Amino acid sequence: MFVDTHCHLDSYERHSNEPLDVFFARLSHDADKNVQPPEAYIHVACDPADFERAQELSERYPNVYAAYGIHPEYVLIETAQDEARLVEFLKHPKCVACGEFGLDYHYDLEHRNQQVVLFERHLQIALASQKPLVLHLREADNDALAVLRNADLSGRKIHIHCFTGTPEFCEQLLDLGSKNADIFVGFTGIVTFKNAQNVRDAAALVPMDQMLLETDSPYMAPVPYRGKPCHSGYIPYIAKALAQVKQIPVEQLYRDCRENTKRCYGI
Ligand SMILES: [Zn+2]
Repeated sequence: MFVDTHCHLDSYERHSNEPLDVFFARLSHDADKNVQPPEAYIHVACDPADFERAQELSERYPNVYAAYGIHPEYVLIETAQDEARLVEFLKHPKCVACGEFGLDYHYDLEHRNQQVVLFERHLQIALASQKPLVLHLREADNDALAVLRNADLSGRKIHIHCFTGTPEFCEQLLDLGSKNADIFVGFTGIVTFKNAQNVRDAAALVPMDQMLLETDSPYMAPVPYRGKPCHSGYIPYIAKALAQVKQIPVEQLYRDCRENTKRCYGI
């Protein structure tokens, strides 16, 4: 019924101390009946050190797909060799996207210029791979828009992941559709946070054929699990909150997001 379009299964395992086999097995009969197993997982490896494990997971579990990218937090340590490996991993048959990559000024205002240079380079790698793009854009609105407006995104599928920005930024990203790009916006457990009205206001602006469900597990657990390790079984809490924002039945939200997942990722 739903796919978690963005999670970090290996980090969940590390954070929760729950081996993945145990986790997968218990999801379908969790004590909380709102917790449901996804049909599939898009596992995101954004540290080059984790690429091998991601590939192993995608080969071992039929419903685990992988995305490979280099997170902006590695701006000072990533190497040309990392980028060459990234290009190779992107060719794997169970790789469904390139990402996450992008800009993050929340923790690092100091290296903005380096981040922009890296973002531009990773964007070229992603475009060359012909795969959908998974973008991490945090508190870097103007620079992100400048890079994206300058790129040839025609015919490309782009998942703006874990949206946390303002409604205005959301609108500007949706406008990239006028460059013939297929823009999707992903929402996490943040939509259930009391203090996240801006994110709900942004979600209200996203057309139902451009919305994606994701957890960003093990981060951003929805209420009532806020602060605990987040996992993909919590998607129903996110779906319910989004359905409320959109004022539609949750079944319709699931249907639309499932359809969007297929259009964006081919699964
Ligand atoms: Zn992520």
